[in-house]
Amino acid sequence: MILTITMNPSVDISYPLNTLHINDINRVANVRKTAGGKGLNVTRGVKFSGIEVLASGIVGGTTGEYIQKQLDSDNIYYHFYVTKHESRNCIAILHEGNQTEILESGPTLGQKEVDAFLAHYQTLMDKAKVMTISGSLPQGFPVDFYATLIQIANKKGIPVLLDSSGKMLLATLVSEHKPYLIKPNKDELQQIIQMDIDVNDTASLIKAVDHPLLNAIPYIIISLGKNGAFARCYQQYYQVSIPKINVVNPVGSGDVTLAGLAVSIHENESIETMLKRAMTMGMLNAMESQTGFVNMHNYDDYFQQVIVNQIY
Ligand code: ADP
Repeated sequence: MILTITMNPSVDISYPLNTLHINDINRVANVRKTAGGKGLNVTRGVKFSGIEVLASGIVGGTTGEYIQKQLDSDNIYYHFYVTKHESRNCIAILHEGNQTEILESGPTLGQKEVDAFLAHYQTLMDKAKVMTISGSLPQGFPVDFYATLIQIANKKGIPVLLDSSGKMLLATLVSEHKPYLIKPNKDELQQIIQMDIDVNDTASLIKAVDHPLLNAIPYIIISLGKNGAFARCYQQYYQVSIPKINVVNPVGSGDVTLAGLAVSIHENESIETMLKRAMTMGMLNAMESQTGFVNMHNYDDYFQQVIVNQIY
């Protein structure tokens, strides 16, 4: 079973409008509300791949109830720690080919929730073979909280795949408790290593994955959007190329890519298959309008078109 952690999930609301009228009333007919947060996209990606998955994290209030109801209707198993503090809404206004977003930061939690979640988390670990952690932490949580989760998982021999950014990723990288895999995109990695990366220059990509901050992490997968990915798996480097696709909505592609990586590690697949699976999942998501959705009927076709080149 794959355990996915989403510490700050949301109800994602999309408002499609022909025109956004500023300082005026905008009426909207086709509202879509889904359970959101990067880790819940990972959960869906794993579920589409046919592997048992359990979603956890913290939810609260009526928004938290809505998130759980949505997961029920998608037949996704979850076991959240439930608080009284209302989970957040994230609003995307789709207008004139633009996407204007209003993102609530979510509840401010404290030491009580930190301790309670850690106790809850310990009860989830028994059946987990692989774990993913995605996205941001609730306000009030220590910035190195992911390192604490990783420490507990590492003690139990559960590999952790981490997809976070900024100060939360940095706090984990400098701690002694290392994830098994990270999957930054180019911008997220540049921010961490404070170095420009030229995606067309192999030497620049190697220099990035060889940065001392990343030394003790076995798998670094830099996802590069339409340029595929570049990876260091222990001491081997891989350039991964993907075919040109018809992109409809790339939001969530990185999350579904992480789902592919988790499934592969769960199934003990080869590195080549792992990279191909991850890229295929990302592409399948980018070809759909719905975030975190993939049409597995197209899986084999795109899988065959991914090329993995080992560099050394
Ligand atoms: P993130 O969503 O984390 O920024 P990326 O944009 O790198 O991650 O996307 C993850 C993966 O999804 C890519 O490695 C690729 O396989 C696929 N993907 C994303 N955008 C595109 C695109 N425009 N064309 C083809 N594949 C894409």
